[in-house]
Amino acid sequence: MPRELPKAYDPAAIEDRWAEYWVHEQLFDAKADRYPSPSSIDTRPFTILLPPPNVTGRLHMGHMLNQTEMDILARWHRMSGDLTLWVPGTDHAGIATQMMVEKQLVSEGKSRKQLGRNPFLERVWQWKQLYGGAILDQMKRLGASVDWSREYFTMDENLSIAVKEAFVRLHHQGLIYRGAYIVNWCPGCQTAISDVEVVHEEQKGSIWEIRYSVLDKGLTGKWEESGEYITIATTRPETMLGDTAVAVHPDDERYKHLHGKHLRLPLVGREIPVIIDDYVSRDFGTGAVKITPAHDPNDFAVAQRHGLPSINIMDETAHINAEGGIYAGLDRYQARAKIVADLEAGGHLVAVKEHLNKIGKCDRSKDIVEPRLSTQWFVKIQPLADKAIAAVDQGHIQFTPEQYRKTYMEWMRNIHDWCISRQLWWGHRIPAWHCAECKQITVARDTPSVCRHCQSPDITQETDVLDTWFSSALLPFTVFGWPQETADLATFYPTQLLVTGFDILFFWVARMIMLGCHFMGEMPMPDGSERTLKDAVPFREVYIHALVRDADRQKMSKTKGNVIDPIEIVKRFGTDAVRFTLAAMASPGTDIAFSEARTEGYRAFANKIWNAARFIFMNMDRAAEVGLTVDPAALLADPVLGPNSPIEARWIVSRLNSTAAEVNQALAEYRFHEAANIIYQFFWGDFCDWYLEIVKLRLDFANLRHDDEAGRNAAQSALATLIGVFESALRLLSPFMPFITEEIWHALYDQRAPAASIALTRYPRPAAEHIDPSIDRQMGTLQEMVVTLRALRKDLNVPEREAVPALYLSTNGIGQLIQSNNDIVQKLARVSSLEAEESWTLTPTNTRTTASFTTGVLYEKQIDIAAERDRLEKELARHLKELQGKQAQLGNAAFLAKAPASIVEGLRSRAAELERLIDKARADLDTLRA
Ligand SMILES: [Zn+2]
Ligand SMILES: [Zn+2]
Repeated sequence: MPRELPKAYDPAAIEDRWAEYWVHEQLFDAKADRYPSPSSIDTRPFTILLPPPNVTGRLHMGHMLNQTEMDILARWHRMSGDLTLWVPGTDHAGIATQMMVEKQLVSEGKSRKQLGRNPFLERVWQWKQLYGGAILDQMKRLGASVDWSREYFTMDENLSIAVKEAFVRLHHQGLIYRGAYIVNWCPGCQTAISDVEVVHEEQKGSIWEIRYSVLDKGLTGKWEESGEYITIATTRPETMLGDTAVAVHPDDERYKHLHGKHLRLPLVGREIPVIIDDYVSRDFGTGAVKITPAHDPNDFAVAQRHGLPSINIMDETAHINAEGGIYAGLDRYQARAKIVADLEAGGHLVAVKEHLNKIGKCDRSKDIVEPRLSTQWFVKIQPLADKAIAAVDQGHIQFTPEQYRKTYMEWMRNIHDWCISRQLWWGHRIPAWHCAECKQITVARDTPSVCRHCQSPDITQETDVLDTWFSSALLPFTVFGWPQETADLATFYPTQLLVTGFDILFFWVARMIMLGCHFMGEMPMPDGSERTLKDAVPFREVYIHALVRDADRQKMSKTKGNVIDPIEIVKRFGTDAVRFTLAAMASPGTDIAFSEARTEGYRAFANKIWNAARFIFMNMDRAAEVGLTVDPAALLADPVLGPNSPIEARWIVSRLNSTAAEVNQALAEYRFHEAANIIYQFFWGDFCDWYLEIVKLRLDFANLRHDDEAGRNAAQSALATLIGVFESALRLLSPFMPFITEEIWHALYDQRAPAASIALTRYPRPAAEHIDPSIDRQMGTLQEMVVTLRALRKDLNVPEREAVPALYLSTNGIGQLIQSNNDIVQKLARVSSLEAEESWTLTPTNTRTTASFTTGVLYEKQIDIAAERDRLEKELARHLKELQGKQAQLGNAAFLAKAPASIVEGLRSRAAELERLIDKARADLDTLRA
């Protein structure tokens, strides 16, 4: 008798074991050479890429939601017969990782620069070796059904070669250039960062008005003070050290007489020209704008047009450099204070006004970003963006929720060139070499020995590395072996789906689309034909998941102390319950307010299933004792129904099939919450609360005589349906709760299961011939009668254990149904007999009437007339109110014009029902008064 489960459900006792088993047995590895094969003509690949977490990361609730959704879909597709591949990996996370290792060095009293580039990189690799796998280990523990044989790290050798290849190709195609431009400079990270890495916010600050004295050409022909001033306004007064002009609008009458004149820059003494440019807004400030080309992107553009010099006055730590004269060495804000004080002392400060400043902060270190002129590498983005816009425009990529398509398009249409160089050490070093001789650059796949232009051997490699997102934007094809034309690429590209958060829509999603369309567009299809945009895209669908908030809908943050650690919560409730909570709340586009109470509820759900399994196993054993056996493997095709199967068997099979239909549909549309809730209702409500209770009637093995052939057949058939439906329900639930279903499923097969895992079996598909609405209706009536009789017993205070006789009015056309299922109602409603009456004699206190029937129990109770009247009056009021509502709807011409006929018909029949119920309640009240 080995088909046994421990008495209590304990997730800790089963989950680690299965998690390890799935990884060890490599159950979810997917091989390209298995596709296409003649035997699997209709096998479609379902490929999904894990958004690679930072190698420094720890799992948070956002990951847990993201991975739960991906795992549900991957398991569902796999069980639906698709060749399913989910690729895991981690990102080297340039800035984050470098900052972390630097911090370690500081705590040892060392610095990155003391150590030097190569020893520092060795140090980072050591760190990665020791701790880099933590987040993927957490993922393994949570049972993610990924192909671990394909685990990658973005700095792996093969991926690094591909990154170099991509850079070299873009460079040769003229799509990468190097130039001095204004970039967003983070003084904390000491590197350029891209536009999307800047977070904009408003901050209370000041605006300073400063006057520059106008110079005139005197008699000597030299520029001399004229006694006149021009006033400019600035929110960053320290940048005046780098001013090279003041601009006014050509049509601004106030300044027309100053065209062509010069100004003297206060404190610095430099002579700068007044220039005219229609970029200047006449209404803003004084209408005169200081031009600081090295520290403002708009000013830089003006300077380019006018051939003005650019003077960079800050170093990479945002301290004033030698160009700042006496202010050199000061931090930018110390310099600001001193400059403002000096301006005031010199009589140059006109006014200081309060001002709401728009400032940009570094997304990672939160330092205020300084626009700063520096030489960087850029991707010329427009040609790439054009393809990426077309791909979405032409419907080759779909977004869910749909609103993100618009967000994407807006960003794409206003995109700027992408600064891809970072002044870091950790990352993919740019494959470009500078020549000391001719100053030209050699870009190459392999380290060159001489300059390509002048053959000088005096060349040094560029010290910058590439933006981390450059390499991750290539992943959808580099993980499959690009630039080689591989079987993996032929099979798994384009990937089917990307599940990710809104926060990396621009960082990652948009750039994958741009680079995917570009590079894969160059690669022919496996059959040699040209690849169109449709098959160049990196993925066909993007699902943007919601945020996980705390139970009060607050954003989780360390400062608020409301962060829920997924590992901690999994320890308390089990992975299955946490996964189910997230799934049951994951409605597309709606943030999740994560509540432990819900998780506790789903743990109880798992417990319920566990107990159901124990009950079933016990009955299988008892059946075996009287020589009845059912082999679950024989039931795999369909839960068995015999020709004479009783109503509960036909009903539960019908419910199983319509549940499967609804769940499959919901998953196809990413309605995880609906899928989870439908399964929950089926398993807990239909299966456990109703079906199991009824089927007990058929499993009376102790009283089964060995010569009662009909009885034995019926018992055997009931057992077969029970096991068959339960087995199917386990498969239905498996993508949501993979651990408990795996455990019970193997136990059901007595550890001789037909597959290595329930995850490798087929997902239940609805069989139309088993969906039977008439059985659903009949069962609904029986359920209603049971519920009504139970309520009546309670109202009459019938002791729990006492079975009382019951009656029903046979004239409602349900006589046949009740008669043939008398045993079900008797058992579930705990009545000793259930007789049909042709004329009703019971008192209203002992009677209940619903839309389908009138029933009552024979039980003498000290009747509390007042309470009973009260109850009837409440019921009457409730019916009247509902009737009023229905009549209002039926009287609304606008509603009737638009509503479908079936809805209107439903309203009419309910109104008629209510009228009958109201008459009945009134009559009963009259009897009580009599
Ligand atoms: Zn920073
Ligand atoms: Zn050279």
